[in-house]
Amino acid sequence: MDIVPIPAFADNYIWMLVDSASADPSGPRACVVVDPGEAAPVEATLLRENLTLNAILITHHHADHTGGIAALTQHRNIPVYGPATEAIAGVTHALVEGDEVSLDSVRSKHGEVCKLRVMEIPGHTRGHIAYVGDGFVLCGDTLFAAGCGRLFEGTPAQMHASLQRLAALPPETLVYCTHEYTLSNLKFALSVEPDNDALVTRSFDDRATRGQGAPTVPTTIARELATNPFLRCDQSGIRAQAERHAGTSLHNVVDVFASIRAQKDVFH
Ligand SMILES: [Zn+2]
Repeated sequence: MDIVPIPAFADNYIWMLVDSASADPSGPRACVVVDPGEAAPVEATLLRENLTLNAILITHHHADHTGGIAALTQHRNIPVYGPATEAIAGVTHALVEGDEVSLDSVRSKHGEVCKLRVMEIPGHTRGHIAYVGDGFVLCGDTLFAAGCGRLFEGTPAQMHASLQRLAALPPETLVYCTHEYTLSNLKFALSVEPDNDALVTRSFDDRATRGQGAPTVPTTIARELATNPFLRCDQSGIRAQAERHAGTSLHNVVDVFASIRAQKDVFH
């Protein structure tokens, strides 16, 4: 299976999971898209690459993740998977923690069907879910490269717990988030943790990647653990920075997380 980005809007990625086991290399290949905020770039890619859309996966209800569902399903009878606890027009399969989604048409080169496990990760929205596959995770607007999503509906404690669940995935797990926010996230991360060598190195690398017009996503859990301040609230340097900003001592990691998330909200 290949996972490729379809750029949408200013900085969204609609991830496309493409079958790698088609018997007929010249025939159409099956694919599934994740969080299609708009239909036009998806349709253009299907046409250009000779792909058949067989399912849609949704992580949360925001319009820039769901806006393309109606048009994409108008002439296709395909399943649309999404979180059970959010009202999303067009979702046909409502998912909760622990559910498994079997994408029968999307297979590895060796013919293994793509299976995804649902993980509930509230915080950005109340019902946000992630799809965990073999060696990768589709995590919407929760964990970003060098950052995390805004707390629109959830509490800092919820978001921190959700990020910790993602952080506990195997370190080599590829992280497919839905926005290219990496350079601005890195700028903020450096303001929180200027002495983190791994972070300084990553900033150079990711700036070069963007300079060539390439995506900085996917990232990995290992890279995020080393450089993402929102996964590093237990580090003494980050705690000290958060305490200086709060003007008081902070007694637990959730308070540290809440402080740096609030700083990021107003950071330019
Ligand atoms: Zn969102």
